[in-house]
Amino acid sequence: MTNGGGTWRSGRVRGLLRPGSTGRSAAIAVLVVAALLGSAYALGQSLIPDRPQQSATGATGDLNGGHYADQPPVEPTQTEQSDQEGDHNAPPEAGQDGTTSDATGDSLFGAHVTTGDERVALTFDDGPDPQYTPQVLNALREFGVRATFCVVGEMAESHPDLVRAIVADGHTLCNHSWNHDITLGKRSPEVIRADLLRTNEAIRAAAPDAPIVWYRQPGGAWTYPVVSVANALGMTPLHWTVDPSDWQAPGAARIAATVTSQIEPGSVVLMHDAGGNRQGTVEALWQILPELTARFELEALPTDRT
Ligand SMILES: [Zn+2]
Repeated sequence: MTNGGGTWRSGRVRGLLRPGSTGRSAAIAVLVVAALLGSAYALGQSLIPDRPQQSATGATGDLNGGHYADQPPVEPTQTEQSDQEGDHNAPPEAGQDGTTSDATGDSLFGAHVTTGDERVALTFDDGPDPQYTPQVLNALREFGVRATFCVVGEMAESHPDLVRAIVADGHTLCNHSWNHDITLGKRSPEVIRADLLRTNEAIRAAAPDAPIVWYRQPGGAWTYPVVSVANALGMTPLHWTVDPSDWQAPGAARIAATVTSQIEPGSVVLMHDAGGNRQGTVEALWQILPELTARFELEALPTDRT
């Protein structure tokens, strides 16, 4: 897409960059929410809300678990959920949530969580993958939907043809780090910078003219350094609004139900086209795209910002 960039950007500036002065109260609120979540788990409930709520400014509240939504559940629920072949191949998000231990109410560090307007963006992480990315592209093509692919550098290097296929279909790209290092944000700015640049180089080796103006931290484990480096390299940090936890392979029906029930104008939907068995995600797409295209304007995140 080529229009609307200003609107999206102003949404970030206006609503998502938080001054440090709000940190203390936000941190207290986080503690309260954490306590409530802990209680809920203790009660054995599995339906803890993980849906970030939008404020009037378009910013997503950090306090409702959006940050944690990409993390593994406290209790193993996969046996019950999995109707796929076992997803032993989970992406590095699985089992790694150390970066959330010092999270505060500002743990998103200003990362984009909504599109900033009425449009909805579907995002696909961890690829490109030779088995699933083409299937995702087929589904999107069938419904005329453009989306955003958050690609991992080493995957882009291994599958440059798929990077080109993504771009050829009009989708936009997002840097998702070189090898999905969930702790990247805790490394030095120099290491972070080298990682992000190496990833961009792999993408550009495949698709030299494709803009890369978004960065998504693996696991949503944002830190100030990783946000700063991404911004300095001309990439806007991108989080998400709706997370169906498809990387856990809960089955197409559950993925579809989560997305269709939680999606609303402005949502950024997190899904995966790699990192494990993604057949459920592909099947869910075929189920939800008729409804989503009827209810919303689905569009790739813009690349025309400078
Ligand atoms: Zn990822």
